[in-house]
Amino acid sequence: MVYSTMDVGLGRNGFSTLAGNMSLKCSYKDYLKHQAMVIENVQTKVKQVMKRSVEAAKHHYAADEDGIYNVRVIFDGPWQKRGHTSLLGVEAVIEAETGCVLDYKVLSKFCEACTKRENILKSGKISKRDFDQWKSNHESECLKKTTKALLVKWKLQQR
Ligand SMILES: [Zn+2]
Repeated sequence: MVYSTMDVGLGRNGFSTLAGNMSLKCSYKDYLKHQAMVIENVQTKVKQVMKRSVEAAKHHYAADEDGIYNVRVIFDGPWQKRGHTSLLGVEAVIEAETGCVLDYKVLSKFCEACTKRENILKSGKISKRDFDQWKSNHESECLKKTTKALLVKWKLQQR
């Protein structure tokens, strides 16, 4: 039931309402425990499927002398909502002939830490120099991911 509510985007509050309507009790701690199990199982399954997808692509194409595969792919990056209002999206590399997803990356236009620090900068409590220093240290853990990271990783070329 936790998986189902996560799958349709109801989250904890939707789960509580649904469980309440069915006279079921589940503490917040138990919900989080089940949610973590679902996430771990889904991530494991995704890794297995993408590994098989890469193997299928390698089987379908021949490698160059240098061991590099030139694979025809489709690259797409849909967002969660239409109309440029979504903060979340995903970009995917899809092998063109089999339709197998070879890789994906979750995108976000929002990072709470960045927003908080930008507000502190605007209030004048820190200097631009302090902000830039913080920003360079924060770069690796920043949740704002809008760049086409997969284009670089997969060395994709438009044809
Ligand atoms: Zn950030």
